[in-house]
Amino acid sequence: MSTEIAFIGLGNMGAPMAGNLLKAGYPLRVFDLVDEAVRKLADQGAVAAGSAAEALAGADVAISMLPAGPNVKALYLGGDGVLAHARQGTLLIDCSTIDAGTAREVAEAAGEAGFDLLDAPVSGGVGGARAGTLTFIVGGTAAALDRARPLFEVMGTNVFHAGPAGAGQVGKMCNNMLLGVLMTATSEALNLGVAQGLDPKVLSEIMKASSGGNWTLNVYNPYPGVMEKAPASNGYQGGFGVDLMLKDLGLAMDAAVGTKVATPLGALARNLYALHSAHGAGKLDFSSIIRLLNANGGA
Ligand code: NAD
Repeated sequence: MSTEIAFIGLGNMGAPMAGNLLKAGYPLRVFDLVDEAVRKLADQGAVAAGSAAEALAGADVAISMLPAGPNVKALYLGGDGVLAHARQGTLLIDCSTIDAGTAREVAEAAGEAGFDLLDAPVSGGVGGARAGTLTFIVGGTAAALDRARPLFEVMGTNVFHAGPAGAGQVGKMCNNMLLGVLMTATSEALNLGVAQGLDPKVLSEIMKASSGGNWTLNVYNPYPGVMEKAPASNGYQGGFGVDLMLKDLGLAMDAAVGTKVATPLGALARNLYALHSAHGAGKLDFSSIIRLLNANGGA
């Protein structure tokens, strides 16, 4: 007997994650507000649903991958949503990156309605989603995580149990604040080296093997032409949007204010991403921050 899955939210991340579940043989019913996204998954063998309720019919597990907290709240708590339409016993998994407060609120409402819900945001980018090498950072009960683990292992290679409901979002938020800072700092270093006459490929190899080495240099170089498959070499299309990084840095700043923790570099990165978005770059990949820092537009 195969686990029936409802997959809701088929954007840059959700589509390849759903695709890997299909390849592993899981029956999928899929829904997105964008018809074209649903059609693409149907072409790969999924059943197209016309609403979230239709996708949830008969599902053992429901997975959502939406942009932000308000989308998740509307999907789960809305009259036409998941809690109203999932059958009892369905395991609910939200993989979106949202604030921990909303994650806890939705998990509590799910619990009151008799459902187990995991917050399971991911790290690894669109490349990791395609390759099935994501890291899942999970909040919720150990029993619910045990049920979800076989699916996480199809879509990813690392699964961390961060703690109770909301803890997955806290882990993810800290990671993404660090990523926003690293991408900005890496862009700055590359621009400086190129302005001083270095080849960005050579400089990247030097820093990768030295003490400045980091994930952005390893798999997501922001300088065009250094890494063939990185968004930088494709006009910064696809990938992880500037506005999504801005959202995540905002979540980190809200949490920092609430706990009186100093995050000066996170605050600076958030402001640089806000400026970049205000200049019209909101839909570009987040590595395009290098353009904001490069007045010549050379990158
Ligand atoms: P995206 O904007 O490409 O996709 C989101 C999809 O959700 C869209 O197709 C949208 O139509 C759909 N949607 C929104 N509300 C819906 C609803 N009520 N019902 C059905 N579909 C709905 O975003 P993405 O890049 O796939 O990111 C999704 C989440 O994953 C975000 O929270 C993001 O922060 C996080 N994330 C993204 C990356 C990345 O590299 N892109 C990496 C890790 C985590």
